[in-house]
Amino acid sequence: MGTGMFDYAPAPESTALVDIAASYGLYIDGAMVDPLDGTPFKTVNPATEEVLAEVVAAGPRDVDRAVAAARAAYDGTWSRLSGRDRGKYLFRVARLVQERARELAVLESIDNGKPIRESRDVDVPLAAAHFFYYAGWADKLGYAGFGPDPRPLGVAGQVIPWNFPLLMLAWKIAPALATGNTVVLKPAETTPLTALAFADICRQADLPPGVVNIVTGAGDTGRALVEHPGVDKVAFTGSTEVGRQIARSVAGTRKKLTLELGGKAANIVFDDAPLDQAVEGIVNGIFFNQGHVCCAGSRLLVQESVADELLDRLKRRLATLRLGDPLDKNTDIGAINSPAQLDKIRELSDVGEQEGAERWSPACELPERGYWFPPTLFTGVSQAHRIAREEIFGPVLSVLTFRTPAEALEKANNSPYGLSAGVWTDKGSRILWMAQRLRAGVVWANTFNRFDPTSPFGGYKESGFGREGGRHGLEGYLDV
Ligand code: NAD
Repeated sequence: MGTGMFDYAPAPESTALVDIAASYGLYIDGAMVDPLDGTPFKTVNPATEEVLAEVVAAGPRDVDRAVAAARAAYDGTWSRLSGRDRGKYLFRVARLVQERARELAVLESIDNGKPIRESRDVDVPLAAAHFFYYAGWADKLGYAGFGPDPRPLGVAGQVIPWNFPLLMLAWKIAPALATGNTVVLKPAETTPLTALAFADICRQADLPPGVVNIVTGAGDTGRALVEHPGVDKVAFTGSTEVGRQIARSVAGTRKKLTLELGGKAANIVFDDAPLDQAVEGIVNGIFFNQGHVCCAGSRLLVQESVADELLDRLKRRLATLRLGDPLDKNTDIGAINSPAQLDKIRELSDVGEQEGAERWSPACELPERGYWFPPTLFTGVSQAHRIAREEIFGPVLSVLTFRTPAEALEKANNSPYGLSAGVWTDKGSRILWMAQRLRAGVVWANTFNRFDPTSPFGGYKESGFGREGGRHGLEGYLDV
């Protein structure tokens, strides 16, 4: 890390485009408003520990006001517009996300800690693509396979995590609006800034007041939103633990629920796989976004006959990863989003060692300030180890081996989760055989962590239910 063949000169992205206010209110009914019963808290740059801005932890009365605004907008304007007119607004939002892409990317990297290369090339373009995609559905809902005139649900209460703040916002808001619902969205407490910038985009797009409302805050605000009786639909992305609580609180109400929860994906490499390509896929699978990815390939299952060679190549590759300033265009690994997440990664990694797995990281200097964790891999991991079963949600890879396809399948499916999986092999028939039997919502073949708005995404088992993206993503927001 920086000690490779040669060092790169710093290439920092300019922050000149970004204008962060000292403090923010809540975006309700088309305007930034002061809270009624919310309290201020600070959002911090995880790479420097600098305070970026003061935001509001919305209280129950604030949430109530936001839901009322969403209801009024639903009854008064949005549900009465034609799909074609809703589509026009969504295309406008999509274009504005593109126009403000650099600003949004810098803001995302500053607030989240992710490398600018990723926010610039993945998060923001995919967020725009999501709005473009669902804008296209708005006037074609009668052809989506849900009857000739599928109806919206009403007000959607949406709660999202911190790992892809703007992209998760797009996954939630685009299909909700396209289908004629209005929304109250709560971003994660550590990453509110791109959602607040998005509020400004809604204003720029002349979206009718109340169609999108953004209430910042932590778990209490989220709970007030999902439990609010004025909400018709709850969409949640986050941990399985909170997902369970929400499922309990929504049970017995008329609310429709979709949950996108955790994962512990198997990335399976067979002996006939192109190994250099697989190494890139493994790196992208677990070190993309510091491993803060619900569908991360956090369990590497490698066929025994190629395990040594693959691990040699993987370690050599990890030694070239650059960890540091998220705003540097050469950075591969940015900061861990919060001290709480860093603690969790440290704790589970320590448990990995205590349970007998062998820990390895490349030589790697961590910056003094900020929250950092080196890329780490564990070998000698067995199925019983906690690091093979629990989601670490960090840059930590657990390596297991197998001998036969049946054993690979058995190990891959031996998980309470079922969000994604990867298969690396030269044989098309083996890809199909595995894909049919893997209990995972997404199976990637000879690639990993690829996303496209046309492709449905979602889990089996404790990874949740419901699909986001594609035609399937419309269903969660329609009365069908
Ligand atoms: P989290 O569940 O703690 O928080 C997620 C969101 O829920 C945040 O906005 C938080 O403020 C809010 N929240 C917390 N308690 C709540 C409550 N009682 N009621 C309502 N809202 C509440 O998870 P996290 O630590 O922010 O995110 C990491 C987790 O999210 C990981 O487990 C990861 O796998 C999962 N995740 C899943 C997907 C997916 O698509 N399946 C995507 C990203 C992240």
